[in-house]
Amino acid sequence: IVELADVHLSFGPTEVLKGIDLQVARGETVSIIGPSGSGKSTILRCINALVTPQSGRITVNGARVDQMTSETDRIKLRQKIGIVFQQYNLFPHLTVIDNITLAPIRILGVDRSEAERHAKDLLARVRLSEKAQMYPGQLSGGQQQRVAIARALAMKPDLVLFDEVTSALDPETVGEVLAVIRDLVKEGMTSILVTHEMRFAEEISDVVVFTENGLIVDKGPPEHIFQKSANPRIRRFVNGLA
Ligand code: ATP
Ligand code: MG
Repeated sequence: IVELADVHLSFGPTEVLKGIDLQVARGETVSIIGPSGSGKSTILRCINALVTPQSGRITVNGARVDQMTSETDRIKLRQKIGIVFQQYNLFPHLTVIDNITLAPIRILGVDRSEAERHAKDLLARVRLSEKAQMYPGQLSGGQQQRVAIARALAMKPDLVLFDEVTSALDPETVGEVLAVIRDLVKEGMTSILVTHEMRFAEEISDVVVFTENGLIVDKGPPEHIFQKSANPRIRRFVNGLA
């Protein structure tokens, strides 16, 4: 469903991606790990057409993202890709349920009762049924992040991108967000996660990718990266030493 082939991307004089090759099959979970500044978020932004590489190919659902010239095409692409960031960016003046139904109603033209029915299902999936009428400011960080996940799912995406979604949370709420992602992955949602939660990545991923300095240094099944890597840099990183 996603393929990057020899993707090079520079911001001004700085080459940030130096030839990225990555494939994600439908239903697969891929985690991207690696040091700060290595290009993890930029890879996600390429997939979502928020940045365009100077060279290489990016294909999502059969469409060539790198060749999209119109903003309309990019917007259409993004409607099928859920994205959840470290900062949940909920609309503070809207209730939880209105945050979730806004895009389906406004963008897809789903009628309100249908959108609300779907939103209630999603709230049950993220274990927040009782919070539908609350405002984001009345929820904990972990609860807000779960609403953000429900909001991403409301568009019935083909693929969900998670960028360090637990990094800004209190330690006691990290687990509840990871539990929701774990459920989604088990249900077969195609997911790409940038994460610093090493044990979680090891547990849920089909493939783990280690990036450094704009390159994929190694990739493979979790045990390959976390237990059998011959690369001392990766061994130090996954053991939390650097
Ligand atoms: P972190 O773990 O800190 O989130 P990351 O692996 O996600 O890091 P990226 O955000 O992809 O790293 O950034 C890779 C490099 O690109 C960094 O050196 C960053 O400073 C640079 N960069 C990212 N976005 C821009 C931009 N819009 N303009 C210029 N440089 C940028
Ligand atoms: Mg990042």
